[in-house]
Amino acid sequence: MQYTLGEVKGKNPRIFKPGHVPPEEFENMWATLHAGSTWITEHQNRKKDGTLFWESVTISPLVDDKGNICNYIRIMVDITQKKKDHEALINAKEKAEESDRLKAAFLNNISHEIRTPMNAINGFSGLLNTPGLAPGKINEYAEIIIRSGDQLVSVIDDIVSIATIEAGQEKINEQEVNLNSVCRLVHEQFLLNASEKDIVLNFKPSVADAEAIVLTDKTKLMQVISNLVNNAVKFTDKGSVDFGFHINGNELEFHVKDTGIGISSDFHTEIFKRFRQVEDENNRHFGGSGLGLSILKAYIELLGGKIWLTSGPGEGSAFCFSIPLKRTVMIKQADTPSSSGLQINREITETILVAEDEDLNYMLLKEYLSKEGFQIIRAENGAKAVGICKTNPHISLVLMDIKMPVMNGHEATRQIREFRPELPIIAQTAYSTADDRDEAINNGCLDFISKPFTKDQVISKIAEYIKSS
Ligand code: ADP
Repeated sequence: MQYTLGEVKGKNPRIFKPGHVPPEEFENMWATLHAGSTWITEHQNRKKDGTLFWESVTISPLVDDKGNICNYIRIMVDITQKKKDHEALINAKEKAEESDRLKAAFLNNISHEIRTPMNAINGFSGLLNTPGLAPGKINEYAEIIIRSGDQLVSVIDDIVSIATIEAGQEKINEQEVNLNSVCRLVHEQFLLNASEKDIVLNFKPSVADAEAIVLTDKTKLMQVISNLVNNAVKFTDKGSVDFGFHINGNELEFHVKDTGIGISSDFHTEIFKRFRQVEDENNRHFGGSGLGLSILKAYIELLGGKIWLTSGPGEGSAFCFSIPLKRTVMIKQADTPSSSGLQINREITETILVAEDEDLNYMLLKEYLSKEGFQIIRAENGAKAVGICKTNPHISLVLMDIKMPVMNGHEATRQIREFRPELPIIAQTAYSTADDRDEAINNGCLDFISKPFTKDQVISKIAEYIKSS
């Protein structure tokens, strides 16, 4: 209270009057005390220097031997800290409840996104067994199963990305990138989708290739542009999708513009949140999990940039984002990524060791490889892979699973490297992040292929190393 004993002794307690307590509260207080009861309250009061603090006040009437109130005892306790602790506790509880609600909603959404394609996969796989099924139907069902499998993998990729972003583990790997090549590749990727819908897909370079070389995270940038172009094509029925970038001072500014259904301004912030879509759940025409924009916003922010959009219903949408422009020291010739893999020479009869503990995964690789004329040896775990490599010097390549019993693929690769340093070992694993790739390479694998893979992906990867070895 900051009062000395001398300052308060013999004074009317009115000097402690808070000043801002409403008159009704005093009326209540006096009514309670006059009725002979104790008045207990908590309110803010002022110290001698005017600073506010919380106090708990207890006032009890004292009665004389005739039962008349003759005095009052007032006990005041400073509870400012207690109040603060209490508020902090309530905040923490509300946060925990909110996070619980979000987690439950997240799991529900994930379950929905996984069950939907799984339902198609299970259902149509069962139908494939129908006796006398027409070949046309077999093809149709197989197509649906493959498409649903792809959808499932993309949901899982999104979930892994979100979990890595959330855990703060997503890292930026900067390298020299030719932005024109990246945009050309995205253009190539979506040209078929666009022409199937009668949409014109345009990418017009704004700078020459030599000027388009910058330092950035190619994988993330590519994912951001592909995702925006994918959405633009998906939500446009006729007209065009134009995308590209230009240099604006120290910034790179990208745009993806479409003439599609557009987005009302009420949703301009919402759509960047997880699982948020303009169409409500029961009325969806377009597929998608609603995760794409939240992931790409996080990526753009990791790259030091920001994303914005202009759009209105029926007016099309323009998504733009900017990231800092970082130049490389040396301007090199443009890298020319290619979407087509290398072709395998069909006359080769090389022996490939497949280190794989899962029977179904092994069966799939065996199908892929034997059709290309490869000899195949299987090792069910890392230790066997090491032993087989020791006793079979004619093995020309190893496809190494990472998670295996007895000895994992990392350890097996390290051991094989000691006696066959030149042998190409390609990690093939369901772990798919950049860290997993780095770990495999650090342990001696020459390359990495993540499950699920298509036959073309496996064969072109093998062809790269068998040709060059
Ligand atoms: P989804 O997988 O549902 O496409 P996104 O996070 O990429 O998830 O997008 C969220 C929502 O934003 C979409 O479902 C759609 O309602 C809206 N949206 C995104 N891009 C566009 C666009 N180019 N035109 C119209 N609506 C869009």
